[in-house]
Parts: sequence; C-alpha cells; structure tokens
Amino acid sequence: MRLPHIPNPLKILSREHKPKSPEELAPMRHTLAHLLAAAVLELWPDAKRTIGPAIDNGFYYDFEFPTSLELRGASTKPITDSDLPKIESKMRELLPSWIKFEKHELTAEEAKKEYIGNEYKHELIDEFTKEGQKVTFYKSGNYSDLCKGGHVENPSKEIKPDSFKLSHIAGAYWRGDEKNKMLTRIYGLAFESKEMLEKYIAQQEEAKKRDHKVLGPALDLFMFHETSPGMPYWLPKGMIVINKLVDFWRKEHRERGYLEIASPLINKKELWITSGHWDHYKDDMFISNMGEGEIYGIKPMNCPNAMIVFGSQTRSYRDLPYRLSDTDILHRYERSGTLNGLLRARSFRQDDSHNFIAEDMIEAECARILDLTERFYGIFGLQYHLKLSTRPDQFMGDIETWNRAESALRKVLNEKVGSGKYGIKEKDGAFYGPKIDIHMTDALGREWQMGTIQLDFQQPRRFGLEYADKDGSRKTPVVIHRVLYGSIERFIGILIEHTAGNFPFWLSPVQAKVLPITDTQKKYAEKVYDELISAGIRAEIDTRTESLGKKIRDAKLEKIPYLIVIGEKEQKESKVTLEARGLEAGSKKEKGVSMKVSELVEKLTKENLS
Ligand SMILES: [Zn+2]
Ligand SMILES: [Zn+2]
Repeated sequence: MRLPHIPNPLKILSREHKPKSPEELAPMRHTLAHLLAAAVLELWPDAKRTIGPAIDNGFYYDFEFPTSLELRGASTKPITDSDLPKIESKMRELLPSWIKFEKHELTAEEAKKEYIGNEYKHELIDEFTKEGQKVTFYKSGNYSDLCKGGHVENPSKEIKPDSFKLSHIAGAYWRGDEKNKMLTRIYGLAFESKEMLEKYIAQQEEAKKRDHKVLGPALDLFMFHETSPGMPYWLPKGMIVINKLVDFWRKEHRERGYLEIASPLINKKELWITSGHWDHYKDDMFISNMGEGEIYGIKPMNCPNAMIVFGSQTRSYRDLPYRLSDTDILHRYERSGTLNGLLRARSFRQDDSHNFIAEDMIEAECARILDLTERFYGIFGLQYHLKLSTRPDQFMGDIETWNRAESALRKVLNEKVGSGKYGIKEKDGAFYGPKIDIHMTDALGREWQMGTIQLDFQQPRRFGLEYADKDGSRKTPVVIHRVLYGSIERFIGILIEHTAGNFPFWLSPVQAKVLPITDTQKKYAEKVYDELISAGIRAEIDTRTESLGKKIRDAKLEKIPYLIVIGEKEQKESKVTLEARGLEAGSKKEKGVSMKVSELVEKLTKENLS
C-alpha cells in the first residue's frame, strides 16, 4: 500500500512567542497557592491548612473545612464550586497588599504555635525538624505559612489579577493515602496573562469535545470493561485502524531491512533477572505464580526477547545492523489512579524495534531512523520536534563510550534538523545510554512525548551477546531501542483528539457511505456500493427509509470521509454525487460533485493507494 505523502520536512516549532514553561511559572503559581490559603482563612477562619503546591496549569491548596454547619452560619458549610467566585474575589482584594515576602526561621515549638489544633502542619513540622533544624516561614501581607520558598518577589506587581481563576474543588486524601482523612482541594489555573489563561480554558473546552475516551466508544473503535481495567477491547472498526497502521508500519520497515518477529508474552522470572527488570521494574509487571517454584512475568517490554533472538545464533559483523521489529502486546501494571483511556493503558503494543549495531554505526543508523520518523509523521502531517537526553549522574559503562555516543547523536541531529533546533535535556538519558525523544504538538497546541530512540550499551552485555568482527575478535553489539509512534494504542488516542475523530481517508474504518434518497434508487445504489467494495473501498450503504438529511447527519456523526448521494437524477444519468466530509465546516451551499461511477472508483482508489 502506498500512501499519500504529505510533505513535512522536520518541522521545528518556533521558539519565538513560546509560552512560559511550567518551571518559569512555578514561582507565580506557588505564590498564588499562598494567596488562596490567605483568602480561605479570611472567609473560613476555622479551616485547617495543609499543603499547596504549583502544578502544570496552576496551583492547588488542600484544606480541612470544619464540618459543623451551625458555627458561623452559611460560611461553615462544606464548600462547593459555587463558593469559588467569592474566594477568588477575596484573593484579588488581598493581592495589592502583598508587596514582598519576608522569611522567618522558627523552632519546631514556635512553628507549631502558628497552627494550633492543626495536626497536618504539626506532622509536617515534626518531619522537617527531625534533627533539630529550624523551619522557614514566609510572610506576605498578613499571611504567613510554613514553606521552603520559591515565590515571586513582589506579588502585587508580578501577578496580574486577571491571570488566574479558581477552577474546581475535589476531594483528596492527606498525603494521597486513602487510609487518611479526605481533604478539600481547591484548584486554580494561572498563566502569565489573561490571554494565555483564556486560551488555555478554550483549549480545555475543545479538548473535552475531542476526548478520545468519549469519541472512541462513540465511533465504535474500542471499549473498556470492568473485568480488565485499563485494557482496551478493540471493536471491529478500531481493529481496522490498528491493522491499517500496522500494515503501513510493516511495509515501511520491511523495505528498510527490518525483520519482524513475535515472541512469548509470558516469560520465566529468570529472563527478567537477566534483563534487570526483576530488580528494577517488577512492581510495574503482572506476575503469575503457577506454584512449584514456577514464577512468570508478563512482558512489559520486548527488549529481553529480542536479545534472546540475537543471541540464538552466531552473528558476524556482516549481519549488522540487525534489526528485529515487533508489535507484540505488552502489559504494564499501571496503578488504577493513573489509568487514562488509551493514553495510559495496561495493555498496548509498540511499533517497536531493536537494532543491533557496531559502535561505529550509531550515527548512520540513527540518521536512518530519523528519516523513517519523518516518513511516519509526514503521513499524518504531524508537527514534531526532537530532544536529546544526555548522560545522567547515575550511569553505567565508561565515560568514553558515552561521550562518543553523545557526540554521534549530536552530529546526526545537527545534520538532520540543524544545530540549536533540537532540545537538549541534560542528564536525562537512561542509565544505560543517551536517547533522542520525539515530541509532537497536536491541533490544540498540546505537546505529547511520542517515540524514542535509545542507545543501550548494557542489555547486550547482560545477555552476553557477541558478534565476530572483521579481525575475528568477539565484540559486544550496541542496541538501539526505538519506537516512532510510541504505543500504537496511545497514538490512536492522540490521533482521535488531534483530528476530532476525522481520520485520514486511508485509515478511516468506513471510507464512504452510499445514500440512496428513496427506495426507487436502492437497486442502483447497491450496484454502486458493490463496485466500491470490489475496488477495495471500505464502503457502507444506508437503505433505511429515512430522509436524506437524517442519513447525512448520521453519517457525519460517524466521521465518514465521503458520502455518495444517489437520487433520481443520478440514477437516470448513471452518476453519483460525492460529498466530502471536509465540506461540513464550509457553507451548506457547497454542492457535492457529480461524477460517473467509474470516476468515483478511480478517485477513491487513488486516494487509498497513491
Ligand atoms: Zn511558599
Ligand atoms: Zn527495548
């Protein structure tokens, strides 16, 4: 299958007008958490403060509100979202008086007096003063709180009153432990300006409409069931999408010398001991104990099996690069609280490959992988950028190998995308080697980490892998672990949100729907439908006795790329009227295109294949 190529030379996102990063916004958000607590205490003096950090889109603070309803009338009722505007105005009222932060050091005993009857803060103070240290308090306006610092210097000047908004209230256990008391968490959004805040809110609303957890089941792509939490069931239409993606993956890889394998999903503990997963990853694996000392681990990654395959035969330098690809289903025991539809699932498949190479092949092989990345992202017209992660403080192997590998990766990135046009994450490499991560920005401007290209000097050693070099000496290969989309499941989830369910034609489960206007055209419509099916187009026909308007509306809800309308006129002229999904955004006056059936078949076949 050849696919329409959408030219996409490595697109690098503009660094100008780049919004501030969460790191840059953290002092402001952290300051707002203080301001939130100050406002809450003014309104509910009996509320107990606990903790309140900055988060990726703003801040929160957890409180225990007094449960008695009577004490101070309405104001002591457990609070709801309807209280948020009141708290927000109080924050804005206090803000001008916050002109600086003053730091004080207190002993444990002094600190506890600041929080009489507040067991949460007392617990924190005990923890922070275990070795007799003092704790720090920061005061702004009339509000003082236990804190390690990290605020803006002058909140009244540096925080715009319209750049934050309290968003919602949620329950949260003290210290995230369900054995503890449930507290009330108040969330706030905060950005550098009102415009950025509004943009974020609009984006969130759009994202809600595109939520793959809603759209996916609505489009009959996948579903979940309580008996296998976090593990998607792929429905017939979703399976078409998976298979089309894998077909594309398979063909592109085969053409580039990759060899596809499949290997056991369930492997004995001994394999995971050799790979190191048993020591470092066991808690994230599904384990099966079959008794009599037979313990198995369900594979969370394909790497160890690829090592086994490489090691199963004598290899020589002539075999390298030796590229073993696979899309086996993997399982990871993601904690239930972290599951998020297809974006974080317990079972998924990766577009995986393990490329075994000699050390002097790093540059050339990574260049080839980046070419393939361009092909894979270009097909979808997706914008992406690359980030290099370098040697972490805790690393294995010798520094010289690391230096050579890092400079090979830098060189290839400089050549492919240009010096300074890729990100660098210092010390963020894996302990076994440096890596390049592929990040994508979707239609809503959200950034996703997708694929990764990781050099690994350690796994081949652990498995005792060798190849015979030209001079006959035995050498250990380097392995590149690489995924381009990441997980296929997650990629589909992101694609649903990126396209709002409007998959490209070649990937759409149903590509065209034939819509006879009345029963009189049914026979002719069936003939058109048969021709499309014979041509390999995934077509459906709607012969219900519904109005054309209703049929079109339904087909559009199913996000079908093409609607083929057949009425009296079309039948008489042996033609069809083709309406594209893309027209729905335009005016209703946009007319479909009239064409012969043979022209229709030719057009759609071409879009599928060329
Ligand atoms: Zn603070
Ligand atoms: Zn791997």
